[in-house]
Amino acid sequence: MANCSKPPRLVLLGKQGAGKGTQAKRLADHYTTVHLSTGDMFRAQAAQGTAFGLEARRYMDAGDLVPDEIVMGVIEECLAPGGPLGDGFVLDGFPRTVPQAVDLDRVLGARPLDLVIDLEVPREIVLDRIAGRRVCVSCQTVYHINMPPSHNWTCDKCGNEVRQRDDDTEEAVERRLQLYERETVPIMDYYRERGLLVVVDGVGEGDEVFERLVKVVNDHVQV
Ligand code: ADP
Repeated sequence: MANCSKPPRLVLLGKQGAGKGTQAKRLADHYTTVHLSTGDMFRAQAAQGTAFGLEARRYMDAGDLVPDEIVMGVIEECLAPGGPLGDGFVLDGFPRTVPQAVDLDRVLGARPLDLVIDLEVPREIVLDRIAGRRVCVSCQTVYHINMPPSHNWTCDKCGNEVRQRDDDTEEAVERRLQLYERETVPIMDYYRERGLLVVVDGVGEGDEVFERLVKVVNDHVQV
């Protein structure tokens, strides 16, 4: 068991549509720590029209990965002592390639990750979830066509527009799932070899999945 008197340092892995974003937010609240989604961060930068955001958007809209060196530059800033991730965190969407995982270990140095969770959901289910997924353009809260916000596709939390993500088209999703198999699945072996990986069943009601996640964190990390 990792000795972790501070907030835990967690990574959530899982296919597109596995529910990482929703569950990572809940875990971060539960352990009073910070949720970082690289996808949300890149989308927010793109919406603000920053040079970095516009560059990231070119890759995202095509369903490609943003190059490692660009991603690592941003992450390193966040993880610097005194930065937003200086203490504990729940990472969602990062690392996504083995070089990113290796680099993350280097940056974390003396206080490594406590646990890496693979949120496992079969392909047919994620395809169905993504086809119906609708997201708030501002706070990124996720809805589904079967579970819309209460008023006319405006976000229940912040009142902004809720719509389909630009990269949730069938072609981009297919490409992202292929990239996930090729680039991200090898990360599981990397973490398994280091004794850090646990697999959690991500099928079921959100509350049920959340309880499973909290149980594995409490079982493996001293929080
Ligand atoms: P999804 O997991 O459904 O693809 P995300 O919101 O996590 O959604 O990411 C959206 C897009 O942002 C990705 O398709 C990719 O282009 C880019 N991205 C996010 N995180 C990373 C990362 N760690 N490395 C490279 N690209 C990333």
